[in-house]
Amino acid sequence: MVIAIANNLLSENVRVLKSEVSRTAYQAVAVAVASIIIATLLVCYYQNGEISLQGIVDAQKNNFALWILDGIPFVFGFWGQYSSSIIAYQAGALIFDQTQELRSRAEDLEKKATYTATHDVITDLPNRSLFYDRVEQGIISANNQNKHLSILLVEIVNFKEVYDTLGRTSSDHIIKQISSRLQGVVLGADSVAKLDGNIFSILITDPAGEQEAELVAEYIQKVLEPALVVERLSFAAHTNVGIVHFPEHGEDVDTLVQKAGVALYMASKDKDGFAVYEPSFDQHSPRRLTLMSELRHAIERNQLELYYQPKVSIQTGELYGAEALVRWHHPKHGFISPDEFIPMAERTRMIKSLTLWVLKEAFKHCAEWHRQGKELIISVNISAKDLHDPELPDLIAGVAVSTGIKPEWVVLEITEGSIITYPELTLEIMERLTKMGYKLSIDDYGTGYSSLAYLKKMPLTELKIDRSFVQDILHSESDDVIVNATINLAHNLGLQVTAEGVENEQIMDKLKSYGCDIAQGFYLSRPIAITDFNQWMESSQWQMKEEVALN
Ligand code: C2E
Ligand code: CA
Ligand code: CA
Repeated sequence: MVIAIANNLLSENVRVLKSEVSRTAYQAVAVAVASIIIATLLVCYYQNGEISLQGIVDAQKNNFALWILDGIPFVFGFWGQYSSSIIAYQAGALIFDQTQELRSRAEDLEKKATYTATHDVITDLPNRSLFYDRVEQGIISANNQNKHLSILLVEIVNFKEVYDTLGRTSSDHIIKQISSRLQGVVLGADSVAKLDGNIFSILITDPAGEQEAELVAEYIQKVLEPALVVERLSFAAHTNVGIVHFPEHGEDVDTLVQKAGVALYMASKDKDGFAVYEPSFDQHSPRRLTLMSELRHAIERNQLELYYQPKVSIQTGELYGAEALVRWHHPKHGFISPDEFIPMAERTRMIKSLTLWVLKEAFKHCAEWHRQGKELIISVNISAKDLHDPELPDLIAGVAVSTGIKPEWVVLEITEGSIITYPELTLEIMERLTKMGYKLSIDDYGTGYSSLAYLKKMPLTELKIDRSFVQDILHSESDDVIVNATINLAHNLGLQVTAEGVENEQIMDKLKSYGCDIAQGFYLSRPIAITDFNQWMESSQWQMKEEVALN
């Protein structure tokens, strides 16, 4: 198919080029014919003293030089045809070669992007998302063939110490050595993956009995016993292994990995350092380990709620928009802070469903405000993990269409961490979102590693100064200097600045004098449920511009 299209393209190119070259040859033939006419007329005039038909015929019959001239148009014609064919084919082939080269370069880039999205940068092992895909595939074929699967989670317990003492480069070396040893233990490198900084996973398809996983766990501990060496320092890895079996312990990958996490926790209490999941473990394991499977139900059963916190334009006092913040009212545990469950959701694939839920809910409310003539800008938090998902822009576009929202009404808040892990992929996704018309904001600015160079590269609209700096602006001189400098820096980069954590009027006044654009914080309102927010809008001193005009 591709070859047929390429061939068609080539013959079309050849036809165009040929007609171009032929046109020049026709012009040459015309010039030659004109020269013959002029030369014949001149010969006739010089021989007879006048121009007559008989004189022209005699000149053509008797003049040898005119005979040669008569032949030239034929030579030009023939030469033109011949060289046009050659040039056209050469040029056509050249274009064809270059097109092929460009196509193969584009394919290479695409492959590279897919590879970075599915592999761990340090070890080249499959990452969490590829591992989940493989387990899903494994589950399908195990179901078809009536077979079993085992999953092992391997945690290098003391890895943080290495990181803290030896730094990043050395700990990368250590993790590579561990990865090589693990690949040696199991057959086929593809069944080992790296899920987190210090957690590896192993998938055993079709184990020979339940004991095989335990045997592999023992091998893992043995192979990691000899010290790992970096910079002449030796390091003994201390590992725990959690094991689950399919189909006994769960029928989908999320449940299986969650239960393997519970087993891993119990392994840390066990002298052998490994444990196979048992339902009774759930009662002893920390709340966070069981919470994950409940979060899925919470999303499905609408136990989550979005709260809104207003954003106000500091210089004019007008209401600018609102940030959507998710809340979880757990039937048993009561209120659970997003600071607790978002990082957990980010460690599994749950974050994608959560973000989708938040987007749908927030866009729906925002569309409703606009229908009522309230032109609020909605800010939605997008997790670092979401920004590594090439499907994100399409998901957002789908929600926007189904809720009737315009991209200009939306700010997507992202944190610096997301950009640092996979800069190329993240930047590409950010650029796609910007082209679609969404505004991007860098959240919690000042707490990460963002350098000026990074900010310049990113298609951003807004910078949000982290609340930890803003809260103390009245009492800490250094925070005051940082906030003021950040506002100037952001303005120089053409970004609007939102200050979070505006807790009183004095902070608001100070920010106003620094030229800060937008304020968000308890002084204006705490995050509140949608009905409270709608009431707040009616009664608060911070009104939308249009409404002020109407009153
Ligand atoms: P964030 O994006 O920095 O959100 C602002 C947080 O600051 C909110 O905490 C808000 O309640 C709090 N805050 C606002 N004004 C003030 C103030 O004046 N003083 C103080 N001390 N705090 C203030 P919250 O709602 O607990 O959210 C915590 C974090 O959880 C958020 O931080 C955000 O990173 C994450 N989060 C919340 N909702 C979502 C969501 O829907 N998706 C994702 N991916 N993350 C979310
Ligand atoms: Ca935020
Ligand atoms: Ca923030």
